[in-house]
Amino acid sequence: MEAMGSIDYFQVKSLLTEGERIFWDRVRQFVDRECMPIISDHFDKGTFPMEIIPRMAEMGLFGLHVDGYGCRRVTHTIYGLICQELGRCDSGLRAMVSVQNSLVMYPIYAFGSEEQKRKWLPRMARGEVIGCFGLTEPDFGSNPSGMMTRAERQGESYVLNGTKMWITNGSIANVALVWAKIGEEICGFLVDAGTPGFQSTLIQRKFSYRTSPTSLLIFKDCMIPEENLLVGAKGMRSILSCLNYARYGVACSALGSAIACYQVAEAFARERKVFERPIASYQLIQEQLVRMVVEITKAQLLTYHLGKLLDQNRASHTQISLAKLNNVREAMKIAQKARDILGARGILADHHVIRHLCDLEAVSTLEGTENIHTLIIGKDLTGISAFY
Ligand SMILES: Cc1cc2nc3c(=O)[nH]c(=O)nc-3n(C[C@H](O)[C@H](O)[C@H](O)COP(=O)(O)OP(=O)(O)OC[C@H]3O[C@@H](n4cnc5c(N)ncnc54)[C@H](O)[C@@H]3O)c2cc1C
Repeated sequence: MEAMGSIDYFQVKSLLTEGERIFWDRVRQFVDRECMPIISDHFDKGTFPMEIIPRMAEMGLFGLHVDGYGCRRVTHTIYGLICQELGRCDSGLRAMVSVQNSLVMYPIYAFGSEEQKRKWLPRMARGEVIGCFGLTEPDFGSNPSGMMTRAERQGESYVLNGTKMWITNGSIANVALVWAKIGEEICGFLVDAGTPGFQSTLIQRKFSYRTSPTSLLIFKDCMIPEENLLVGAKGMRSILSCLNYARYGVACSALGSAIACYQVAEAFARERKVFERPIASYQLIQEQLVRMVVEITKAQLLTYHLGKLLDQNRASHTQISLAKLNNVREAMKIAQKARDILGARGILADHHVIRHLCDLEAVSTLEGTENIHTLIIGKDLTGISAFY
């Protein structure tokens, strides 16, 4: 077997272009050398490793869907590999990068005015400005179109009122992309942190996604200048186009977490002796390792192909749903099996598996739950909506 992060039973790496392989190797080394050594401590303390942001910017990890404005666009395949590598380390790290790229920089690039692009994108690419994406509300998660947050025109401004919950990066963000209704139409607003009437609070006592600053955003008579309206964004259709990229990133990230758990379990099984023999010599343990690699291999082929479909602009949102659903579900099973193989040690931070297991609980909910993706695919197959 090759270096860390490279279980490759079906030689998927050989299908990549040289450029994709070089980018992947660079990110893998960055993750192993700079992220892995510090992540458990941050998870323990419930803090995001802010020190890593300038390094991520130097590596070109911000602005991955953007041409120009100080950004270097990459293929979706490369974006997926980046998410996979970050997810191999920590889902919270990957979430920060996904939100910055797919849920803030991409919508500014796709739907923003020229002034908005010039104002935000170069600084975001340099990691000087962090963004967050405020869609979910306390009473509207799976059904965001029911949102209560409202914007009303007042002279040359809009007045924003409402609450957004579970917002990744919220309390470290310099700008929030907030979705609100003007009348019945859903619109996007760029809200500077520090705008009077805008308050962001860290959600405490989480046992999952501990490195990720998940936040509550409250808007109370918050005045937004009209030039902060995302002029090209048109309702849920625009929102879903950003979520497609983010969901693909989550599918790749879950694969990375599964690979990390497998590698720890396999190495441990070779070393650990019980009844005087390594546990890897027992058929029941081998069967578990084989099941893990079967699912990892299927997920690798699925995400590789999905990346290529995205690169050719041929991927459907239902295919993305299938990948998110499958990869997260299987990663959770793999993390559970790995934890079991490690025995008591499986609950220690040093082995990382318990951290992935806890994080995957949040990953299964965010970007659409398994139920919601099942309903999306079910509707595609039957032509009948079973959402309500
Ligand atoms: C760590 C974390 C980070 C997040 N980051 C962000 C972010 O950056 N920005 C953002 O806007 N949001 C974010 N979210 C919110 C996330 O997108 C929502 O939590 C998710 O969409 C589910 O919404 P909910 O929690 O309100 O659950 P609900 O929608 O209340 O669902 C509860 C349960 O009901 C099920 N259910 C719902 N509808 C149906 C149905 N029709 N049929 C069958 N079952 C159904 C669901 O599958 C689930 O099991 C984040 C969430 C977490 C946990």
